[in-house]
Amino acid sequence: MPEIIELDDFLSNKIAAGEVVERPASVVKELVENAIDAHSTIIEIDVEEAGLGKIRVLDNGDGIDEADILRAFKRHATSKIKDERDLFRIRTLGFRGEALPSIASVSIIDLISAKAGKSGTRLQLEAGKVISQEKSSARVGTDLTVSDLFFNTPARLKYMKTIHTEIGHISDIVNRLALAHPEISFRLRHNERELLRTNGNGDIRQVLAAIYGMNIARKMVPIEAQSLDFTLSGWVSLPEITRASRNYISTMVNGRFIKNYSLVNAIMDGYHTLLPINRHPIVLLSIQMDPILVDVNVHPAKMTVRLSKEAELEHIISTSIKRAFKHQELIPAGNIAARKSERKSEQTYLQLEESKFSKPPLPKSENRPISDWPQQNKRVVDPEPVELTKVYEPPEMEEEELATGFVANESPVTIEPIVEENTEETLDRIPPLYPIGQLHGTYILAQNDRGFYMIDQHAAQERIKYEYFRDKVGEVTNELQEMLVPLTLEFSTDEYIKIEEHKNELEKVGIFLENFGTNSFIIRSHPHWFPKGYEKETIEDLIEQLLTMKKMDIKTLLEEAAIMMSCKGSIKANRFLRQDEIQALIQELRKTEDPFTCPHGRPIIVHFSTYEIEKMFKRIM
Ligand code: ADP
Ligand code: MG
Repeated sequence: MPEIIELDDFLSNKIAAGEVVERPASVVKELVENAIDAHSTIIEIDVEEAGLGKIRVLDNGDGIDEADILRAFKRHATSKIKDERDLFRIRTLGFRGEALPSIASVSIIDLISAKAGKSGTRLQLEAGKVISQEKSSARVGTDLTVSDLFFNTPARLKYMKTIHTEIGHISDIVNRLALAHPEISFRLRHNERELLRTNGNGDIRQVLAAIYGMNIARKMVPIEAQSLDFTLSGWVSLPEITRASRNYISTMVNGRFIKNYSLVNAIMDGYHTLLPINRHPIVLLSIQMDPILVDVNVHPAKMTVRLSKEAELEHIISTSIKRAFKHQELIPAGNIAARKSERKSEQTYLQLEESKFSKPPLPKSENRPISDWPQQNKRVVDPEPVELTKVYEPPEMEEEELATGFVANESPVTIEPIVEENTEETLDRIPPLYPIGQLHGTYILAQNDRGFYMIDQHAAQERIKYEYFRDKVGEVTNELQEMLVPLTLEFSTDEYIKIEEHKNELEKVGIFLENFGTNSFIIRSHPHWFPKGYEKETIEDLIEQLLTMKKMDIKTLLEEAAIMMSCKGSIKANRFLRQDEIQALIQELRKTEDPFTCPHGRPIIVHFSTYEIEKMFKRIM
């Protein structure tokens, strides 16, 4: 008897299901992707018990022909590619022909489908075996229900997390698919409760509002970029909107949501010092490129892809985000109401920003469910506006940072600047301010006709110094100054070896080492612009920084050097400043490229609008 046998279809599908159907959310993803590939304009998803009870996906797409319906459940049966050439030009979300047979092998399926002008078919399967096939109604599109998922794979069932976690994953997937397809109207319900509804009118901003709420959507700015190989478009949250996890960063390539670590890093690099440490933005990034540059055939779940010219793409991404924030006024509002609840203060921003954004459309009546549509009538002419409520967030989410409001910046106010010369282009990112005084020797208080401002003097000076040192480090030669007393430094052998190895890089930040006996170096000079009075400390800290770096990266070293130097000698809290010092500081700050956050991402300036102040004192209601 031969030892090697070919597994039958049922078993091989079940094995494939291990990869394709990791959890209920994977079923939702595959079914909705099929509906998208079938050109649906409306997709309704109903889920019970986090998908373990029931998942129903109803679409108004092309439908499946009676003659094809059994084949759709065969392994590697697909209508989306025909030959090897197609594999390198994938424009659909599916192509492997694995999802339906895999899902069917671990659940009970009830499928009704019809193509335009043809009669419909109903097919029922259990663990991949056909139970019945009959003629059915002819509503164009597909109505697929998956019940009792994993009923025959107890190990997988046991592995499922809480209902909350699983529905969180489902919600997350549908949110991303809805963002990728604003032209399709999505509705997601869990145990009858509506979690998402989009109107399919093509406006991504309305999808963002349906997912994250209107206040967040309003604080997202569009980005765009183009190169020979890539077209990039997307929405990025203002730096004040942050999240503890990276889950809110969605990247899509040719309409397919993908996971790619380097692209996320490029996004984070675009924000650079604008975000507090360990906080992440909300980003939706859509990349279009020739399919020949993308290999999607990497993993059965099709979320991992291989990209050609990735470095070029990363560069475009980070520069386009940087550019988006270059001309934005990023002063967070400091009003208390706004901190307590974004929603409460909504009115304020609507008032402030009336000219910029129109009010969200108010929900009218319920959208009619697909099931009520007239037979054979594919398109719904005028989908009603989306209901702008905040819905389920992914379970990984942690308490969100107290989101604060933003000041409108449509029309620069015309009042006399505090210092006359107003030549720098960057000056208008912070409006002209009149100093009032100082609080606790720590905060500068200032005003203009838009309200009241508080500036953290230490953070402000750190920003100013950081940008100064950032320009200085990296070009250090011929600006050297002899030290009165040369500095000798001794290290352990392994440290000594590492320093020896990276002598060149250290020279780029202004440290010139001469060997001086066993495991020792002597330093006789340093750039004249090293922070005054902190020269020795700066040298020691820089070497320390090199030693703690896991991998040598000159860009990071220069960057960290600039941040470290900027901290040294910046005016600390509890220091009284004269009026002229305050004026000079404000002016210097206004000249910086990024006047809103210190190099560690903390805010420098907050604003209390005149409107909020008047509201606080009930001068207006
Ligand atoms: P793939 O999407 O990789 O082709 P699937 O197993 O997901 O493989 O689906 C198999 C085939 O069934 C698809 O190629 C498509 O022709 C058909 N199909 C599945 N779902 C739908 C749907 N909602 N509408 C129309 N056709 C569908
Ligand atoms: Mg598919």
